[in-house]
Amino acid sequence: MSRIKSRNTSLELYVQKFLYNAGLRYRVNYKITGKPDIVFPAKKIAIFINGCFWHKHNCDNSVTPKTNREFWKKKLSVNVLRDRKVQNILKKEGWDVYRIWECELEKDEKKTLAKLINYIKKKN
Ligand SMILES: [Zn+2]
Repeated sequence: MSRIKSRNTSLELYVQKFLYNAGLRYRVNYKITGKPDIVFPAKKIAIFINGCFWHKHNCDNSVTPKTNREFWKKKLSVNVLRDRKVQNILKKEGWDVYRIWECELEKDEKKTLAKLINYIKKKN
């Protein structure tokens, strides 16, 4: 599974670099609930870049491994529950939560990133 994990990490860096090059200044390692991958504190936007496997996206990338099936099932549903909880807390605290999925980037990177930039720029 280490391959999937490192892929996920580089995705975060990739999006961060893209936003930086677009002239947007964000924060990483910002200390709010759930440790979002990218945060715009003034706009109160919290962005998560989710690997489809780890966050159980409803897509083809998200297949539970055949070995240790019960372990994975449990582990991944804990992740999903945590995601939901984090999102609820952030919303209550006035944050907008924006989620990007690995498969969206794989399918149409340009469109996905354009959509994200649009979203960030539109919010005051
Ligand atoms: Zn997906």
